[in-house]
Amino acid sequence: MKAWRHLTAALLGLVSLGGCVTTGGPGGGQGTSQTTSQATNPQASIAPTAVPAGPAPLAVDLARTPYETAKLRHNAQPARATLEGSLWMMSDNAETTIRQGAGIVTDPALNAYVGGLVCKLAGPYCGEIRTHIVRVPDFNASMYPNGAMVVWTGLLLRVRNEAQLAAVLAHEIGHYMQRHTVQRMEDIYTKSNALIFVQMATIAAGIPAAGDLIQLATLASVASFSRESETEADDVSLRLLVQYGYDPSEASRLWSQVMEESAADKDRSRRSIFFASHPASENRADRLARQAAFALPQMGATEAGRDRYRAAIAPHLASFVRDEFRMRNMDRLEVVLNQLSREDFNRGEINFYQGELYRVRNAANDNVKALQFYDASIKAPVHPPEVYRSLGQAYLRAGQKSDANRAFQEYLLRAPDAADRKLIEAMMGS
Ligand SMILES: [Zn+2]
Repeated sequence: MKAWRHLTAALLGLVSLGGCVTTGGPGGGQGTSQTTSQATNPQASIAPTAVPAGPAPLAVDLARTPYETAKLRHNAQPARATLEGSLWMMSDNAETTIRQGAGIVTDPALNAYVGGLVCKLAGPYCGEIRTHIVRVPDFNASMYPNGAMVVWTGLLLRVRNEAQLAAVLAHEIGHYMQRHTVQRMEDIYTKSNALIFVQMATIAAGIPAAGDLIQLATLASVASFSRESETEADDVSLRLLVQYGYDPSEASRLWSQVMEESAADKDRSRRSIFFASHPASENRADRLARQAAFALPQMGATEAGRDRYRAAIAPHLASFVRDEFRMRNMDRLEVVLNQLSREDFNRGEINFYQGELYRVRNAANDNVKALQFYDASIKAPVHPPEVYRSLGQAYLRAGQKSDANRAFQEYLLRAPDAADRKLIEAMMGS
């Protein structure tokens, strides 16, 4: 099956690129890695002397905007009697399901931020794209032919700055403007599997469980884009990053982050839904890095928009991470939290979640690690009161009763109205 072949290629890509990520990513310095496999090494590939010969074109058409070369007409609503018209109606139904679903995020500030970015990137197409943020803890964004853009909260947890978010949103806008979403739906329709998008919308509209995500990934791999469409959408994305002054090297950096996470997943059945529906050639990060190296000298000042992004996400960090814990995929969550910790993003809070991960997983030495992370969290100027409650629990597990009681006391002092006060007092007395 074609989709599986693409997926295998994508997974092979993960394995071969995984090792580069920890050494600083594509934006890092030039190490001695140039003598290693250049075709799969984004670090080596951005050096001018290390650009490998290959079929992937380096040059992107920066002379014209993607809007000028788009295949989709403005407000091109198809006649109802046509196949495209019926696919459009199915998309409308799917969108209604998502909008009314339990998982929809209604916070006005977050919607204004993400929707505003989509609008900016969509340019003249802004008025026909509606953005919906849905509470699903996995890396994904998707686009329906009718202009419905769906962004999962797991994506927001995994991107580090506005440039990385823009890279994904612009990729999806590229699928829309190039009519890939229509082609993809038509293709599925002719395979007598027309309901697949409605099924996917129904699952993602709720607050899915781990099994739902496995089912979604399977559906997504059946309903995947072609590799050619992927390359085209990546090109649109890069051109839009350049147009709006975002650092284009953030696109390849994001892929490296996501690939590091996927490589850590021991359970291959829980593969990323984005990779399942967006099959990439194994050198995607490499290709994006080379294109950024081509574009950067032609740009003026660039920005990543890190502080703006952090300000928009910070109020939601706790709920995003809580949803990740529900998936019980600790190997992947460990990588995500490590990456956030490396970025020094809300250190007191992230260190607390790292402690929680090890306390909940409770494998060999995990309680020791949990204690270390709670300690680090407390040393940060801002940390949640719950860190003292968890610290108490970890001390109890380690048999350190008086340390546990001191931590519990501190928790009750900092959270006087805690709902679990009676429970904590009972633990202290026992
Ligand atoms: Zn894609």
